[in-house]
Amino acid sequence: MATIFSKIIKKEIPADMVYQDEFVTAFRDIEPQAPVHILIVPNREIPTVNDISTEDEALVGKMFTAARKIAAGEGVAENGYRLLINCNKHGGQEVFHLHMHLFAGRPLGPMLLRR
Ligand code: 5GP
Repeated sequence: MATIFSKIIKKEIPADMVYQDEFVTAFRDIEPQAPVHILIVPNREIPTVNDISTEDEALVGKMFTAARKIAAGEGVAENGYRLLINCNKHGGQEVFHLHMHLFAGRPLGPMLLRR
């Protein structure tokens, strides 16, 4: 099912675009949770990590290659960054078009909310 991210990829609605090629699009999160917060999205609609097939392996690799290029372009590669993918309810996924968050620009703290 198409989400808002498909519209952003097709440039039907605006976003602060950072990177786009034939396979992957990246744009700044509308509600950033770090000084750098970028979403890296495959152009093809894959709802969740659960829906990734073996044929998607190269595409998923391209998401990581895009992350590396974006981190370098944002000047955060050396200090470091965090890549995060949420899946379904317990993962906190809100938009059902696979996406990788790239967070950077400050120490990012513990990996998970402590309780
Ligand atoms: P999730 O919780 O699904 O892993 O993350 C979805 C992310 O998409 C959230 O961080 C949210 O702020 C972001 N987001 C939702 N709608 C839009 C939008 O229309 N434009 C942009 N740039 N980001 C969005």
